[in-house]
Amino acid sequence: MCGIFGYIGNDNAICRVISGLEKLEYRGYDSAGLAYVKQGEIKTIKSIGKVENLKISSCAISSKISIAHTRWATHGSATEKNCHPHTSENFAIVHNGIIENFEDLKRKLNYEFYSETDTEVVAKLLEEKYRECRKKFKVEDAVLHTIKETQDCLKGSWAIALICKLDPKKIYVFKNKSPIVVGIGKNESCVSSDINAIESDEFNFYNLEDGNIAVVKQDDVKFYDKNLNPAKLERIRQVQNKYFEDENFSHKMIKEINEIPFSIHQTAKIFDSDEFITLSKRFKKFKEITIIGCGTAYHAGLYGKYILEKYVGKKVDVVLASEYRYKTKIKSENELVIAISQSGETADTLAGVILAKESGATTVAITNVSSSSITRECNFTLLTNAGPERAVAATKSYVCQIYVLYLLACKIINKTPQRDLDRITEKFLKAFNGRFFEKYYSKQKFFFIGRLCDSSTAFEGALKLKEIAYVHSEGYPAGELKHGTLSLVDEKSLVVAILTQNIIKEKTLNAVHEVLARGADVILITQFHDIDFSGDIITLPNVCQEIAPLVSVIPLQLFSYHYAIAKGLNPDMPRHLAKSVTVE
Ligand code: GLU
Repeated sequence: MCGIFGYIGNDNAICRVISGLEKLEYRGYDSAGLAYVKQGEIKTIKSIGKVENLKISSCAISSKISIAHTRWATHGSATEKNCHPHTSENFAIVHNGIIENFEDLKRKLNYEFYSETDTEVVAKLLEEKYRECRKKFKVEDAVLHTIKETQDCLKGSWAIALICKLDPKKIYVFKNKSPIVVGIGKNESCVSSDINAIESDEFNFYNLEDGNIAVVKQDDVKFYDKNLNPAKLERIRQVQNKYFEDENFSHKMIKEINEIPFSIHQTAKIFDSDEFITLSKRFKKFKEITIIGCGTAYHAGLYGKYILEKYVGKKVDVVLASEYRYKTKIKSENELVIAISQSGETADTLAGVILAKESGATTVAITNVSSSSITRECNFTLLTNAGPERAVAATKSYVCQIYVLYLLACKIINKTPQRDLDRITEKFLKAFNGRFFEKYYSKQKFFFIGRLCDSSTAFEGALKLKEIAYVHSEGYPAGELKHGTLSLVDEKSLVVAILTQNIIKEKTLNAVHEVLARGADVILITQFHDIDFSGDIITLPNVCQEIAPLVSVIPLQLFSYHYAIAKGLNPDMPRHLAKSVTVE
């Protein structure tokens, strides 16, 4: 959450940070701001709402250095005062994360605070530490010692970029548990929350590790560990996914749904990769398998349980990462923990991976970002290769996550997977009318039901509708309705029933009859042609049953998209949500 972008170089830094923020806007968009140095003084510009507003207020300014931020508020509402950068006499900082002990620090610091944020405390603490460090060291060393001492006092998560007015040709960066990357080019350097926001093929990139401090100059960077010893960081190669340049779509979300066939095509390549083969060979030795994830990734995990148990015959647990990280960890030998996260930065999932490693588990990342924090922590990475996903609601990445899990299960048991899903989904997307659900928009209650792997699709359908169209909806395993929830079903309800599994055909249809009897309207999503049902049916293409959830989720994604549009909402930037949830 939140996007940090900094630039130092020969270009106008203001234009460059604005263009960086535009690419990072998926990470937070309640306010945006930037800082630069002019005639020895730090200046800031802040605005509420989108980066576009900041662009308008800063277009006449030019500078060689700037740090900027697009915010996803955790502490303090989305006001101009709370907007980053936050300042003290000598510093301006931008921050991603949460300072957990900020109230404690605030009480101890003898400063006046203008904002409600946790971040401002860091700006003031830096100032406090700098007073002493300035007396002992020259400028750069003084700032480095200031950062070290400040960092030692902080609890929580942070990626922080700062500029100091007495040292105006450098950007200092330090981090703990939140991601930040440094890119060094020819006579220009950038810092960013996401490598893909840095536009240049000629940059050398470095991912900071926890505790690292970077001193970034126009043409050079120096790295230190938390005790200020020089640190050597691995240079990383940027994998530029040049997906559809075609911007003929009105929103990123619909563009990304339409990219599903190509993403599947790219993801399929993993099947013959060395890492995939090695992991599948070792799979049999694991006695316990746990899948962790949050939100949509958790739903992909539920599918993972279904397919691995069915094909491989091993018991699999699926745990929400936010629960997993605090649960009593029972030491077990030969445990495999599979962490699913589109961004590879999800804070809860990352913490879960670290915990799993500490308890001796082998860890696997299923992620869309090869250089992410979770990738770096895990023993194995299965890259989804869905291409950059910018809309906040996950669509193509979810499809690719379940495809990777299916391919893995096939590989382990030496089964030939279904390979033509790209072509099949392309055809389905062309034929399916996304406005199919229109006549049901006036319903007041929305239920999605299914059994076995169809229940994970039901959960995902309900989540999409909440995320994008702000509609209260529930996903239910169809057999559970009669244990309470049926009391809510009436003529104001729409029930979307997903039915792709032969063995529970009659059972799901029983649930359909139960809700019909209570006056609900029902839409059935199925590939079976022999069903006696007079209501609306969405007929799915005929695919192997075990991978049917890859297709059945598509109409549900389109439902939430079109419903949001009909309500006049922006599906790419839903309220209170951001992509890449890097706070706990
Ligand atoms: N905790 C900080 C704030 O609320 C930073 C949040 C973020 O990562 O955007 O301002």
